[in-house]
Amino acid sequence: MRLVFVGPPGAGKGTQAKIVCAKCNIPQISTGDMLRAAKAADKLPQDLIQRMAAGALVPDSVVVDLIDARTRGVDCDRGFLLDGFPRTVPQAEALDAMLRARGFKLDRVVALEVPRAMLIERAVLRRTDKRTGQIYHLKYSPPPPGADLEHRPDDREDVVERRLATYEAMTAELLPYYESLRILNRIDGVGSVDQVSDRIFAVLGAAK
Ligand code: ADP
Ligand code: ADP
Repeated sequence: MRLVFVGPPGAGKGTQAKIVCAKCNIPQISTGDMLRAAKAADKLPQDLIQRMAAGALVPDSVVVDLIDARTRGVDCDRGFLLDGFPRTVPQAEALDAMLRARGFKLDRVVALEVPRAMLIERAVLRRTDKRTGQIYHLKYSPPPPGADLEHRPDDREDVVERRLATYEAMTAELLPYYESLRILNRIDGVGSVDQVSDRIFAVLGAAK
C-alpha cells in the first residue's frame, strides 16, 4: 500500500503514521524527520536550517530528491507511508512521475483535519523521545519518567503560527489536486488517538 498523510502541523500525522505503519508493516517516511536528522548530523546547509526555523518550506527539489532516494530502498517494495510529503503541487507531480516510472501509483491520501486552536495546543506541548522517536504530549499523552525529551525549536507558538500559514497557503492547491485524482480521504482528527486511527483504518480497509 502506498499512502500519503497530509495535514497541518500538530494534526497527528506522525502519531497516526506510526500506528498504521506498524499494522501494515510498511516504513514511515517523514521528510521533516529526515531533514532534522540531516541537521543533527551537520549535513543540512545553513539556508535550509534557517527556513525550517522560520516555519517556511525548504525547496521542492530538496525533498523530492530525499524521497526519490529513500523510496528506492528494498523496505519500500511492499509500500510506504509518506508523512509530510508532498506539501506542494509540484512535489505531488514529481511523486506521481517517480512512481509511474517504476510502475506504481499512490493508493490513498489521508488528510487529517483539526481546528486551528487545537493544532497550536498540540504542537506547542509536543515532546519527542530522542532515543525512541516516540511522540508525546505534555497534557494528552504524558511521557514516562526517564524519557529523553526533545522540544522542537519550531514548536514555539509564534513559529507554529507561521507554519500554519505556510500550510494553508500550499494545501489550497494540494487537496483539490488529490481530490481530482479521486484518492483523497478527509478524516476528522479530533478525538482520542484510537478514535482517529479507527477512522483511518475504516478508509484504508475500504481501499484494499
Ligand atoms: P509537522 O510534523 O509539524 O507537520 P514536519 O516535521 O513535517 O512538520 O516538517 C518540519 C519542517 O521541515 C517544515 O516546517 C519544513 O520547513 C520542512 N519540510 C518538511 N517536509 C517538507 C516538504 N515536503 N516540503 C518542504 N519543506 C518540508
Ligand atoms: P504532526 O506529525 O501532524 O505534526 P503529531 O503526530 O506529532 O502531529 O502530534 C502533535 C501532538 O499532538 C503530539 O504531542 C501528539 O502526542 C499529540 N496528539 C496526536 N494525536 C492526538 C489526539 N488524537 N489527541 C490529542 N493529542 C494528540
